[in-house]
Amino acid sequence: MVVIGAGLGGLIAARDLADAGHEVTVLEARDRVGGRIYTTTFPGTSTEVDLGAEWGSPDHHLALGAELGRYGLSFEEVDETESGVWRLDGQIRNTGGADARVCLSERERAELDGALDVLAADARALGFEGADDSPAADRLDITFTEYVESLNLSRIGNELLYSTAFSFAGGDPDEYGAWMLVREIAGYDSEPEVLFGDDYRISGGSSSLPRAIAAELGDRIRLGVQVSSVRDDDEAVSVSTSDGEELRAAAVIVAVPINVLGELEFANSEISSRIKALGGSHAGAASKVWARSPNLPPEVFGMAWPELPEIYCHPTDPDLVAAFGMPQVFGEPSTQSMQQLFRGLIPDVEVEAIFEHDWSNDPLARGTWLAGRPGQRHHTAALREWQGRVLFAGADLDTGWAGWMDGAITSGGRAAGKAGLAMGGSRG
Ligand SMILES: Cc1cc2nc3c(=O)[nH]c(=O)nc-3n(C[C@H](O)[C@H](O)[C@H](O)COP(=O)(O)OP(=O)(O)OC[C@H]3O[C@@H](n4cnc5c(N)ncnc54)[C@H](O)[C@@H]3O)c2cc1C
Repeated sequence: MVVIGAGLGGLIAARDLADAGHEVTVLEARDRVGGRIYTTTFPGTSTEVDLGAEWGSPDHHLALGAELGRYGLSFEEVDETESGVWRLDGQIRNTGGADARVCLSERERAELDGALDVLAADARALGFEGADDSPAADRLDITFTEYVESLNLSRIGNELLYSTAFSFAGGDPDEYGAWMLVREIAGYDSEPEVLFGDDYRISGGSSSLPRAIAAELGDRIRLGVQVSSVRDDDEAVSVSTSDGEELRAAAVIVAVPINVLGELEFANSEISSRIKALGGSHAGAASKVWARSPNLPPEVFGMAWPELPEIYCHPTDPDLVAAFGMPQVFGEPSTQSMQQLFRGLIPDVEVEAIFEHDWSNDPLARGTWLAGRPGQRHHTAALREWQGRVLFAGADLDTGWAGWMDGAITSGGRAAGKAGLAMGGSRG
């Protein structure tokens, strides 16, 4: 069998197939495994930073927890925030922690609580795994902007919802669907308080998991091999690479981001039309920029909508801070432009260096994590459910924690199970 893509989804699919006794080859275009999980050293320091995925929840991301356990890895809780900084309606407010609610007036707090109650009720109505079939699904299949506008909140209420939602949906609220965000809240026991923090990361950095799986797979993984086309017939599947090599396999699992599927050629017209029906990319487009600064407030966390929806300190290096934002606001970030953005929250801060990976312009990702557009869920489901010698996997297509590391794991495992069943006794 062939797996295309050595992100977490592809690695899990390959590992499970190998465990079941199948011969498997993983073709990965990059010179590293992990895809949108990418832990590396901040230049000029010895500190490792996660340029991609970083956060998880031991109580909710159970597949991730199980895989960490299998490889002797673990979640680590991040210390309480000491300096919370929020810009609300143009004014900076300081709090002793990551929860903005402590700096709200009674009236603002009541308004926010009312909005969170609506979110909680919608999350309960929608549900998590069965959300596609919920009677609330169509009502919530609108943009998050439309959803927030229907709540008629003050400017501060809007800013709080848009900025906290960004950590989950990572895109422009005019583009991503309320359905997706509400469904994620349903996954967190329908408790929208999660928008104000759930603070666990993978000890040693997120790449420690894909690296551990890759070590087990050994030379079944081929790096630097970009697939250009996939042709299936009654007997087998042919996979062609951009270097002109052709591989034959009994089945193929395609585990690449949905935003780059359009760049692969599929001979099967039904598969091509399902990919076309996705309507292009999902709306997940976030910039994540690490910055080095000598004068950060201790253990800082902050938000300012729309310029800087989230900043947080590095867990061990007090001079490093991560900033999330919309690519159309961050542009091509520089030390000067990031210093200017940070100063909107922390007036005297100095930025000496920055470091990022530009996921939106990365031809092997073309975006960050899944943020489904209204209506798009029907088309991701159609691709996920495709049965044949070619199967689709990856976090973007999962039925559980879609868009998360956990979703990559469950999706990869399911695809391996389907491929194994479809191939029966065949080991190719
Ligand atoms: C900035 C950022 C922050 C994130 N934060 C979090 C977080 O805090 N928590 C969380 O759980 N998730 C987070 N995510 C999401 C998480 O990283 C992804 O959902 C998950 O890792 C995707 O895994 P995947 O295997 O489905 O896809 P990918 O990791 O994208 O893997 C797909 C692989 O396919 C390869 N590929 C693409 N095209 C080809 C081709 N033609 N031929 C061969 N190989 C190809 C790619 O190079 C890549 O290695 C974040 C993502 C980003 C970018």
